[in-house]
Amino acid sequence: MTSLPTSRLRDLPSVDRVLKTALAAAAIERFGQQASTRAIRDALEEARAACRAGAAVPEPSDLAADALVRLKAAECPSLRPVFNLTGTVLHTNLGRALIAGEALEAVRTAMSEAVALEFNIGTGRRGERDDHLRTLICELTGAEDATIVNNNAAAVLLVLNTFSLGREAVVSRGELIEIGGSFRMPDIMARAGAKLVEVGTTNRTHPRDYLSAIGPATGLVFKVHTSNYRIEGFTAEVSARDLSAIAKERGVPLIHDLGSGTLIDLTRYGLMHEPTVGEAIGNGADLVTFSGDKLLGGPQAGFIVGRKDLLAEVNRNPMKRALRVDKLRLAALEATLKLYRNPDRLVERLPTLRLLARPAAEIAAQARRLAPVLSNVVGDEFIVDVVECRSQVGSGAMPLDTLPSAGLATSHQSGSGQALEALAAGLRALPIPVMGRIEKQALVLDLRCLEDEAGLAANLASFSPGGDDAVA
Ligand SMILES: *Cc1c(COP(=O)(O)O)cnc(C)c1O
Repeated sequence: MTSLPTSRLRDLPSVDRVLKTALAAAAIERFGQQASTRAIRDALEEARAACRAGAAVPEPSDLAADALVRLKAAECPSLRPVFNLTGTVLHTNLGRALIAGEALEAVRTAMSEAVALEFNIGTGRRGERDDHLRTLICELTGAEDATIVNNNAAAVLLVLNTFSLGREAVVSRGELIEIGGSFRMPDIMARAGAKLVEVGTTNRTHPRDYLSAIGPATGLVFKVHTSNYRIEGFTAEVSARDLSAIAKERGVPLIHDLGSGTLIDLTRYGLMHEPTVGEAIGNGADLVTFSGDKLLGGPQAGFIVGRKDLLAEVNRNPMKRALRVDKLRLAALEATLKLYRNPDRLVERLPTLRLLARPAAEIAAQARRLAPVLSNVVGDEFIVDVVECRSQVGSGAMPLDTLPSAGLATSHQSGSGQALEALAAGLRALPIPVMGRIEKQALVLDLRCLEDEAGLAANLASFSPGGDDAVA
């Protein structure tokens, strides 16, 4: 050890000296004394380590500048907007559905004004939060009654707990799915207090399987739309309609978990058919559960719709209070559901549907416009191609039905996987992180979900390889 590093450390300015700089004064003005002092300490801490490793002693103003960068970075929201170019429209990790402008306006009002959340303006008496949506949902689905909870997982939990606590819940073996994020049907059933009774086999379940399983201890029959996988080949399942007849005959409720659940026939927009809530009700389910932020295109929520007498029991369950939704989401849901009253304009007004219905040719034209922009920023090391690709609906809906799309595939001249990873990191480090997917040694940006083309181009201008400097 020489004495040089120690003398260097002694030359480091004190916190007080840094605090006296003009930059520190600006930092204090904007972020306050306490946070600024803390940031200066952090900057000094790092400088101390750097000096030990042989770096030059920084000036007080350098340390103040470093502190300011830290303070600004800490101010930047953690829940940041990103460009979802993954090709998955309803990406659970990227927040699923984008809500419509009408819904956004409704949320803004509900957030900043007092609203008649549980107050009946007509009678002047107490009202119910479900009142705001009941009529709309019933109109759109043909159900008698409806309630809304935190998400579909909560809807399933609440229904199971209401009708099969300490009793048996009868389910086909082929429908005991895992949704992801540790949501597994058997586990939810156990936590809901239901005793799971599996019927049939993985690939085939027959009416007689249900008939022999339903007995005096049965609380409900549960049917799950296996939204995220499909069994093909030698298969048999009991249709919702047939199962409803069986449940009715035995006097137990049939609960149908649709998962994504859509309110309209999506084939009219050129998409594959996904069972609608109206169909599930029409097929005789006593209660149907589905999500608010999947194909429906609203905020996170879970719907329970169906028979009035059963919903009255659901609403009497004390767990309902713990799973209810707030006014913001009710406001967004009401505005979103109202858009469904005019299906002709839905595709332009509901972002989820608009993105799902975008024609591949339009996306390809966008890809051709953006290819030179991307090519220019990533440099000669990379080759940027306009490619055809397939998008996914996501969130478990229509798992096997991909949508023809287009995008930009960037590959490295010498096929370096490391360079590709660095490129992906660089795109994630942009002011608005760009999320793509790595596929066959190329970074693919599927442009289906890109509506702000100019915004992406402007964002790409701050690209630096590896993303080292792009964060500030
Ligand atoms: C997505 C899904 C759920 C869970 O819904 P969340 O809204 O994510 O809580 C439950 N069941 C099925 C079949 C699903 O697809």
